[in-house]
Amino acid sequence: MTEKIPYKIYLTEDEMPKAWYNMRADMKNKPAPLLNPGTLKPLTAEELTPIFCEELVKQELDDTTAYIEIPAEIRNFYKMFRPSPLVRAYCLEEKLQTPAKIYYKFEGNNTSGSHKLNSAIAQAYYAKKQGLKGVTTETGAGQWGTALSMACSYFDLDCKVYMVKVSYEQKPFRREVMRTYGASVVPSPSETTEVGRRILAEHPGTTGSLGCAISEAVEVATKNPGYRYVLGSVLNQVLLHQSVIGLETKAALDKYGIKPDIIIGCAGGGSNLGGLIAPFMGEKLRGEADYRIIAVEPASCPSLTRGTYAYDFCDTGRICPLAKMYTLGSDFIPSANHAGGLRFHGMSSSLSQLYHDGYMEARSVEQTSVFEAAEQFARVEGILPAPESSHAIRAAIDEALKCKETGEEKTIVFGLTGTGYFDLVAYQKFHDGDMTDVIPTDEDIAASIAKLPKVE
Ligand SMILES: *Cc1c(COP(=O)(O)O)cnc(C)c1O
Repeated sequence: MTEKIPYKIYLTEDEMPKAWYNMRADMKNKPAPLLNPGTLKPLTAEELTPIFCEELVKQELDDTTAYIEIPAEIRNFYKMFRPSPLVRAYCLEEKLQTPAKIYYKFEGNNTSGSHKLNSAIAQAYYAKKQGLKGVTTETGAGQWGTALSMACSYFDLDCKVYMVKVSYEQKPFRREVMRTYGASVVPSPSETTEVGRRILAEHPGTTGSLGCAISEAVEVATKNPGYRYVLGSVLNQVLLHQSVIGLETKAALDKYGIKPDIIIGCAGGGSNLGGLIAPFMGEKLRGEADYRIIAVEPASCPSLTRGTYAYDFCDTGRICPLAKMYTLGSDFIPSANHAGGLRFHGMSSSLSQLYHDGYMEARSVEQTSVFEAAEQFARVEGILPAPESSHAIRAAIDEALKCKETGEEKTIVFGLTGTGYFDLVAYQKFHDGDMTDVIPTDEDIAASIAKLPKVE
């Protein structure tokens, strides 16, 4: 290969994927099914359709169809911000003086500032197609709520976002972006739902939690005709939509005959990582190629590296289905890490199964070292990364530095999921030396694991 690899490898619109790739179709050990928390039986489509859109229920339960066509309306919306660039990090390589070749797939070049729009637009599309009036959801830090608000305004759907009260009050800017796109944003817990009123009565003055916001959003979706609930990560359907990231990455690399050695992504609920690795994992599962795949999680919320592989609730309110996953226990409250999008106690059941079967690695990193990597990256590559994304940057830099020691010219690809312009308070803490690394003790984790539901 003599041709110089450009700084940015773009695909043409014609080269964009026309179908999502469903990794589950190639998995010999399928991810365990979601269970009804009452009966402990696998959830049926009939049980799921009052909560989720019909087409999304189908996608959720389909673990045999490898390729699912992306409807033309969604492909057209994608064209506003996709294909996203695959960037060769020449400047970072130079700075690190590493023989490694580093690439990153940048998903922050849309107004929502993250990869979450890839699934938000698909979920809004299927809700519209079903003739629904609107959708409800929860948001913590606000990236998912922002992406969903944009997607809903595009399809003229009503969007009700339950935002964790503390974020609602401390992150007014994200809230205003959502309102600009026409969403109604309610601080959770609120007086607008039964579960919200109950929580407020039991815990006056509470600043809320994601689990509580989920409970409110689900209640509103199931009690209002014409509404369904949507979720921005963890679920199989979300990983399916996010496969567009990996398919584009693979197509761009193939254009130049590049084969990655290591693929790295940050892991909260697992959607960006699941999407980025999808076609590569497919090759690995089919025995056609091999790659090292690394999930990076915060040391404050280490579900893969220190969790237990078991059935657990997806929410703190314990009303959602049970999923088999690596979990810290639905009771586990991670410390106030600044990577809000990675503060989930569990991990997608597909990724959990793949990790369990040895198809990928996982590591945890501490937040100050994450911000060091973020700053190092920003100074040479220009993009101000989201704290979540910076977990992947940390691991990519560490792998590149290992190559420097060994002299190996490995090709490293990582997912840069978003920008950090709404996270500047976290950057400020880092710059002022006020950032701490809180790591749960074994006792902390054991206490919440002891409360796992008894299933098997
Ligand atoms: C939500 C979010 C994540 C983590 O979610 P996953 O489902 O694990 O991908 C990572 N990066 C950004 C920028 C996010 O908004």
